[in-house]
Amino acid sequence: MKFAVVSIFPEMIEAFLSRGIVSRARANKTLEIEVIQLRDYTHDAHRTTDDYVYGGGGGMVMKPAPVFECIDDYATRNGPFKVVFPSPQGQIFDSARAEELARQENLLFLCGRYEGIDERLMNLVDYELSIGSFVVSGGEIPALLMIDAISRFVPGVVGNERSVKQDSFYNGLLDHANWTRPAVYRGLEVPAVYVNGHHQEIEKARKRDSILRTILKHPKLFLEKEIGPEEKNAIIEIIRELSTDAG
Ligand code: SAH
Repeated sequence: MKFAVVSIFPEMIEAFLSRGIVSRARANKTLEIEVIQLRDYTHDAHRTTDDYVYGGGGGMVMKPAPVFECIDDYATRNGPFKVVFPSPQGQIFDSARAEELARQENLLFLCGRYEGIDERLMNLVDYELSIGSFVVSGGEIPALLMIDAISRFVPGVVGNERSVKQDSFYNGLLDHANWTRPAVYRGLEVPAVYVNGHHQEIEKARKRDSILRTILKHPKLFLEKEIGPEEKNAIIEIIRELSTDAG
């Protein structure tokens, strides 16, 4: 899979991409990532990518020409691709969207700055996506965040694929608690089943923990989840126990 990121701060993007899982996937060619300096598509001495907003009130907006030219050029060098515009006004980016976008061949992220982009640029955008109902000062962090989450669903990026499937949200549940050595630290113990248990007991304890955490921390996930009979029984059992605990 290929990602491109168009930004006036390419060094921010490269800094993040030079470490961790995504950088490894880049090195072994599972992922290709092209970072594009938008200023390379300007024609003035100052390499200007923004201009005053029409109508007054102050504030700068990203000019249409450099972005149109940049994306035209990208199109001449690539097969089909989709354009993602990170924006607080977009649909919320979530795990299902990450999984969906991981099936694309080529995604170009357009990082906004200032007050945002000239509205005519929306003609180029296939996905307008938000990382949450707040405003950050540029599209770089949102784009990196989305690239990281999408990459995890690209086969071969996360070494242990089981971990992606066990991660929160993938199965409509939160991940179970994890523990590592030592078995006792400052008097705090790892539950015995994880230390001594057999495979099946551990799997059962993990599933129970996932359900319990989802009930306590993120119960709305159950509204969208298909629940099988075995899971339903486990949920009812846990809710019964919680009700008894509550007296
Ligand atoms: N004036 C705009 C915000 C501009 S912030 C508004 O109120 O809608 C500058 C850029 O940062 C945006 O163009 C976008 O690319 C990015 N950005 C800011 N908040 C974001 C969010 N919650 N999700 C995704 N991108 C965001």
